[in-house]
Amino acid sequence: VGEKPLLRFITCGSVDDGKSTLIGRMLYDADLAPDDVIAALESDSKKHGTQGEALDFALLVDGLAAEREQGITIDVAYRYFATDKRKFIVADTPGHEQYTRNMAVGASTADLAILLVDARKGILPQTRRHSVITSMFGVRHVVVAVNKMDLVGYSEEVFRKIERDFRVFAEHLRFASIYVAPLVATNGDNLVHRSAEMPWHDGPPLLSYLEGVAVEDAMRIAPFRMPVQWVNRPNLDFRGFSGFISGGNIQPGDIIRIQPAGRDTRVERIVTFDGDLDSAVSGQSVTVTLAEEIDVSRGDLLCSPVSPAKAGDRLEARLLWLVREPLAIGKSHLLKIGAKTTPARVTAVDARIEIETGLATPLAAGESLAFNEIGEARLSLETVVACDPYVENRETGGFILIDRVTNETIAVGMVKSVAASNE
Ligand code: GDP
Repeated sequence: VGEKPLLRFITCGSVDDGKSTLIGRMLYDADLAPDDVIAALESDSKKHGTQGEALDFALLVDGLAAEREQGITIDVAYRYFATDKRKFIVADTPGHEQYTRNMAVGASTADLAILLVDARKGILPQTRRHSVITSMFGVRHVVVAVNKMDLVGYSEEVFRKIERDFRVFAEHLRFASIYVAPLVATNGDNLVHRSAEMPWHDGPPLLSYLEGVAVEDAMRIAPFRMPVQWVNRPNLDFRGFSGFISGGNIQPGDIIRIQPAGRDTRVERIVTFDGDLDSAVSGQSVTVTLAEEIDVSRGDLLCSPVSPAKAGDRLEARLLWLVREPLAIGKSHLLKIGAKTTPARVTAVDARIEIETGLATPLAAGESLAFNEIGEARLSLETVVACDPYVENRETGGFILIDRVTNETIAVGMVKSVAASNE
């Protein structure tokens, strides 16, 4: 019973590059949009006086079932569709003012990013910015969608120049794969069907490419990690620990380490609504019971004892600053990592990452991070937490900072290293 593999992706681009049209038209051409949504689209387009066949494909995207990101004050919707070969989740990241934060959150769970480029404009500073953020948040695969080719006369020369420009620029970002495709989102060229207008392009249509692209499921082979979201104690005889497995796998009988306490014990049962499991892997939500009565609370991290997450109260991290008010050194915030929340302060910002190049430059005395800037920072936490470097695990190495008064998410962060203050 081979389950269809999943691809999580995000579309990135400036307003009006054609992000929604691209997804909408692709679903329409592949007959993947629900009938009622298409019917609504057709009557809606008529109502708004659009002529004949010119449907507003962007509206299709809103018709897909969506699930919103929980527990974070960010407006990202995850939309689902599936073909015979693969399941897809696309992160829909709206907002102009807040586009960077939405994009960062969407990218933090994506396997692949589609970077939209307007063929008339080529690679803009915005494209470089989105590429750097995409790479920084751990996305390893990109598609450069060179859209609106109809507006440049389907010119191969224009396309080749954009492709070259991007490949040269992106070299330092070390993506595992880059596919550059010439498209006309409104007409469907190279989305599901090959374009008759651009016979010089020999790559597959976008949907076939997305169905086939190989992305490593790094989390399945990562060391076991499960943040405890919830201690489940319906009666005196049962004490289970519930959470989402964010790395590796477990079986009953496995030894696990409870971090940050550092105690080892054995997994007794893996319990789900549909009965006990023989094993569970990354991506599953489960409840485990343990062989011993050990003190485990919400926010603890169950780990492989062979390569456990490190515990500490000092972090070195990259921060993306999300609000107008500049970062204030020493101010107390709430830091949320995995299922754990603790008061924390930024004690220093050592460098700013130049967004267009990805290079770090040292900050002058008294300088801090402003809106949408990225920097290398050090943080001091009020309690010890267990976490991983972001490059090893995006779930247990990614965090957010929350303002204690407004409850607003003010920064997203990526752990580089963790240490204990008494080390
Ligand atoms: P978004 O803001 O990136 O989601 O962009 P939309 O999907 O809303 O598209 C913005 C505008 O560009 C709409 O008027 C589309 O009809 C138009 N558009 C999108 N793709 C193409 C294309 O390939 N060719 C042309 N000529 N127009 C396009």
